[in-house]
Amino acid sequence: MATKIDRRLWLRQSTLALAGLGLAPDLFATGKQKNFHLPGNLILLNSNENPYGPSPMARKAILDTYLLTNRYPDDYVALLKKKIASHWKVNEENILLGAGSSEIIGLACQHVSKIKGHIITGEPSYKVWNHQATAFGLGFQPIALNDEKKLDLSKMFGSINGNTRMIYICNPNNPTGTVCDVAAITAHAKEALAKTFVFIDEAYSEFAELESMATLAARHKNIVVAKTFSKIYGLAGARIGYAIAHPETIQALSSYQPWSDANVSVTATSAALASLDDTEFVKECRQNIAATREICYPAFKQLSLTYIPSLTNFIMFNIDKIKGDFIKQMQAENIYVQYRNHFGGNWCRVSMGTKEEMYSFVNALKKIAG
Ligand code: PLP
Repeated sequence: MATKIDRRLWLRQSTLALAGLGLAPDLFATGKQKNFHLPGNLILLNSNENPYGPSPMARKAILDTYLLTNRYPDDYVALLKKKIASHWKVNEENILLGAGSSEIIGLACQHVSKIKGHIITGEPSYKVWNHQATAFGLGFQPIALNDEKKLDLSKMFGSINGNTRMIYICNPNNPTGTVCDVAAITAHAKEALAKTFVFIDEAYSEFAELESMATLAARHKNIVVAKTFSKIYGLAGARIGYAIAHPETIQALSSYQPWSDANVSVTATSAALASLDDTEFVKECRQNIAATREICYPAFKQLSLTYIPSLTNFIMFNIDKIKGDFIKQMQAENIYVQYRNHFGGNWCRVSMGTKEEMYSFVNALKKIAG
């Protein structure tokens, strides 16, 4: 997530820009090549957002439905669950919607916390939700990544004991962008299901064209797959994601919501519905993001900066060699990236923006580190 300061700045500038533009026609443009243009020339490469989204079809859906926001979204919720179910070849009873997959992670933590214990995670892995698990009384058992900077599946699954309440598998892994073989995770998960709850976070799987573990999740009670519309679908601000799980598990998770699927809106559900149809947009995003990774790698090589090859929309590279506060120096260039302290060193995680944004990033990097 972006820091509070970054966000405040962005929001203030966006609001000013929106006021200036009246209805901000550019923002809702449905033309294929139209991207968001951030006010103030800010280049936000710190939250793994999609610079091209929402898709043209999702933008149109948002415009078509905003006048329906005086109504509860029940019809859209039903339609979306039906569509997601058919997308993954599961049933509607296997789907629960949430305000982003963050909500789904929180519900799972609440569910497993009835008996106190710990969650096994990779180290490093996606952590934003950790404080919520802590608030539910859960602890953590972090397991270091292997030499390839991938989740060490054997060690993670091998560490399950009587106090393990959940094992959290982020594949592809954030912040490293590395991927584990889905067949290997499936084999481990099948064995683990009798012992503990398995959480599969597939937030970035579309970038790497990974197979989903949806089918396994729909059949067994002790596993949840979490998906989001925030990443490749470009709907991070709409706040919509979902869980795929056994109907009994879906019921258990939904019992922690005010009512089932309570936290999604008409606009978010209609945008998500349209996004699933816009397969061309997803393909274009995947290709564009892969191309922007290739803009970064030569610069890292030229500057002799160690980096972790990624299959996602972010790359982590080592900044130990760079003098001074790299993040602040980047901010002075209007570029926001994320500092990470891992593997006993200093790293930066940079999200993939548009090609123009990545050329600006590379130029700034060369200026600072060259
Ligand atoms: N999972 C991973 C691995 C993430 O990186 C993120 C957000 O960055 C999320 C889940 C949460 O995304 P959202 O709540 O927007 O769906």
